Amino acid sequence: MESGWYVLGKEVEAFEAEYAAFCGTKHCVGLANGLEALEFVLRAWGVGPGDEVIVPSNTYIATWLAVTAVGAKPVPVEPTPAGPNIDPDRIAEAITPRTRAIMPVHLYGEPADMDAIMALADRQGIKVIEDVAQAQGSKVRGRRAGSIGHAGAHSFFPTKNIGAYGDGGAVTTDDPGLAERLRVLRNYGSRVKYVNLERGYNSRLDELQAAFLRVKLPKLDEWNERRRLVAARYDDKLAGIPGLGLPRAPQWAEPVWHLYVVRILDGGGRRADLVKALDKAGIGSLIHYPIPPHLQEAYADLKQGKGSYPLAEELAETVLSLPMGPHVEPDTVDKVAATVRAALS
Ligand SMILES: *Cc1c(COP(=O)(O)O)cnc(C)c1O
Repeated sequence: MESGWYVLGKEVEAFEAEYAAFCGTKHCVGLANGLEALEFVLRAWGVGPGDEVIVPSNTYIATWLAVTAVGAKPVPVEPTPAGPNIDPDRIAEAITPRTRAIMPVHLYGEPADMDAIMALADRQGIKVIEDVAQAQGSKVRGRRAGSIGHAGAHSFFPTKNIGAYGDGGAVTTDDPGLAERLRVLRNYGSRVKYVNLERGYNSRLDELQAAFLRVKLPKLDEWNERRRLVAARYDDKLAGIPGLGLPRAPQWAEPVWHLYVVRILDGGGRRADLVKALDKAGIGSLIHYPIPPHLQEAYADLKQGKGSYPLAEELAETVLSLPMGPHVEPDTVDKVAATVRAALS
């Protein structure tokens, strides 16, 4: 604040360099939020009307909104049977001559199967943009999420694993041309003040948020490690409850546990009862997400009614997120687990 410089200055520049180093990419471009990070990459690649972008059927709606914002068509692909992330085998079936990009989401902090997705995309000459909004710091066989696709879109919304004190976002990439184009797009289509190369936007990470993020970034790995311990304790304390499915990340994945999402396997009624029991014990729980994008009013025009994506619909009806974060104490985990066990037994 004392510098008197609030937009596009030294803090943003320094954060971009530090976050690129953290993710293992050559470039990082700070933007106003995660949705525009996704959207601007598609714009920079020239994706638009008539093009198709493959998205998960099971995701937060922002993933789809980025695709429709540029006028392209979202082509939903169902998750793997174990869930929650997009199934590479089903991606192969969904590719058409119009497919321009694949947008895997690392949902709940668990990385999608990037090796399989990149092999497929490279064979077909299709771009891949990772939605890293819920998975900052996670790894696939030692590589950070956001450094594996052609671009990674990040959100610094306050509740994410690294959050600002307001909105914020970024794109990471090794492609210098993409990074440069994003710098122009975020700043009115201008590289030099009052010289406008194209019709751009105003979408910038601001200096104060970048300064906050620079303080938090060195702690991110440690906070994610604390989340891992919370998850491991849940795994232990919730083991063996009939009808309760626990999250199971693949061997090659290092998840960062943005959320700890269990599944109540035999129907919505039991889930509602469990939510009530948790509420009564003063324990908050949430459903991520209760309505999949294809069943939202916002996408009624796509005419993909109930039954179009049964795996996503089944997840919406069975998932429940338990308290998770670096601040969650072992005692809290034990209390939550005991409440879940009593309610479901
Ligand atoms: C939060 C989120 C976004 C959007 O990020 P904002 O910064 O809120 O715009 C996109 N995708 C997923 C999966 C998210 O969880």
